[in-house]
Amino acid sequence: MGAQAVSLAVSTLLFITFTCCTDWQLMALADTEYVVINNALNESGGQKFESEVGETKAQSILTSATQFIRNTFGYDAGNPSKVVDKVTLYVDDEPTQGVVAFTSSDVSGTPNAYEIHYSQNYVDSLNGVEGVLYHEMTHVWQWNGQGTADGGLIESIADYVRLTAGLPASGWGQPSEGNKWDDG
Ligand SMILES: [Zn+2]
Repeated sequence: MGAQAVSLAVSTLLFITFTCCTDWQLMALADTEYVVINNALNESGGQKFESEVGETKAQSILTSATQFIRNTFGYDAGNPSKVVDKVTLYVDDEPTQGVVAFTSSDVSGTPNAYEIHYSQNYVDSLNGVEGVLYHEMTHVWQWNGQGTADGGLIESIADYVRLTAGLPASGWGQPSEGNKWDDG
């Protein structure tokens, strides 16, 4: 086999690998389904969510967050990605003792499905909701060392994503404030 044939074989192989991964990644991205369920329509925060955000805009925020996070984590550049088939966003009306929002795996056990729970008590502006959803979507996409990663690290990464997306929380301190690296 001459040098030219080898080079052709190598470039064909590269082409196949590249094509395969690109298709797979696009499929992974397009395959995520976003469902929005507002269980707080009788509460002022739930009504505010409808008027400030609504289902369609919430779905488009979740889609944009996915693109931003996948890009931040290098998933589309070849870093091993999680598979996320479905994300359901619930606006809850139960009292949450100060918890703005949290993310978990689908409680019914559906694989690759996640739930974001957002307390209606903390629905403010569209911008505020967007920031919280970027933070929570980071938890959906990030690896956590199979549960062994430090909680402060997990939260810092989610806030880093939110900050670099240009969506800082209004109460966040300025650089040099705070006493510990994982404050907030
Ligand atoms: Zn968090």
